[in-house]
Amino acid sequence: MTENVIIIGSGPAGLTAALYTARANLDPLLISGNEFGGQIALTDQVENYPGFPDGIAGPELTQLMQQQAEKFGARFESDHVSQVNLQTHPFTLETENGKQYQAKSLVIATGASPRRLGVPGELELTGRGVSYCATCDGFFFRGKEIAVVGGGDSALQEGLFLTRFASKVHIIHRRDQLRAQPILQERARENPKIHFVWNSVVEKIRGNGAVNALILKDVRTGAASELPVQGMFVYIGHIPNTQLFQGQLDMNAEGYLRVDERTRTKIPGVFAAGEAHDDIFKQAIVSAGFGCMAAMEVEKFLAALEHQGYPGREKAFA
Ligand code: NAP
Repeated sequence: MTENVIIIGSGPAGLTAALYTARANLDPLLISGNEFGGQIALTDQVENYPGFPDGIAGPELTQLMQQQAEKFGARFESDHVSQVNLQTHPFTLETENGKQYQAKSLVIATGASPRRLGVPGELELTGRGVSYCATCDGFFFRGKEIAVVGGGDSALQEGLFLTRFASKVHIIHRRDQLRAQPILQERARENPKIHFVWNSVVEKIRGNGAVNALILKDVRTGAASELPVQGMFVYIGHIPNTQLFQGQLDMNAEGYLRVDERTRTKIPGVFAAGEAHDDIFKQAIVSAGFGCMAAMEVEKFLAALEHQGYPGREKAFA
């Protein structure tokens, strides 16, 4: 069977594309990836998604979006796409569970994953004190002293969340000015459990089976120091999950897919929505908007396909 549309990814972009294509009677199939809901599902409290004046927990928002898409007939597969072939039409996909699919159109909503620091000790101690998800792991640090690396919205928002558990949260930032929005800066500065470590980078994570200290370097003086902590949460940005499309779709130097103003990639019938291509806004509501746009483009593409055949094949595959 050839699917009308397969949506890859289950964050706000993918779930919104599923809702819109389902309501257009396209019987969409969404392949969710290994982490259902993407980054927003790992967020404790979402305060800036319109319609929820008291905020909403990330996992709950994701669940509601799924329910809404399912209500109109969207189908969900819990699996991870491991290969795609965009050189033939219908496009073909293979998954980690060994399933094969064919699709007339695709929405790539694979999002982005946390960037790692790349310092000694990080890999070995991941899950043993090193974490990229405060919502998942914060609970383990009750009464403990921990560090958060980064100076953006995520570092501050998650650092604030972690003060519920930890006795002290050191926010380590490589500059002396934060990138985060003013409201979060204000809350962090007012929180007695938060301590800022300015102009510093983590050079090494110490621990034998569990984190017990970070070796820091002052970027102005080069001086090294040791910060005894039992946990470290890393929030230094993200890397788009687009490796699957390397060599088949255009992307920039950081791996963000190139799309036009209508979410179209260079291959007709292949659209991208959300943080797989958005390297500017990176907000749940923006990703949802891109998901809606991609879905509406899918509708147009499928209608044209039915009446005129596959468009621009020569151009696309030249
Ligand atoms: P971000 O805004 O890119 O911030 C990354 C932070 O990590 C920056 O402070 C950066 O330092 C630092 N950094 C980057 N590479 C580093 C390295 N190798 N070593 C040490 N520090 C490093 O990422 P984000 O905080 O994850 O936010 C991503 C997007 O999501 C943003 O658009 C943000 O507004 C949005 N977001 C919004 C909310 C909200 O609205 N409540 C919550 C979370 C995220 P520099 O500042 O020196 O570059």
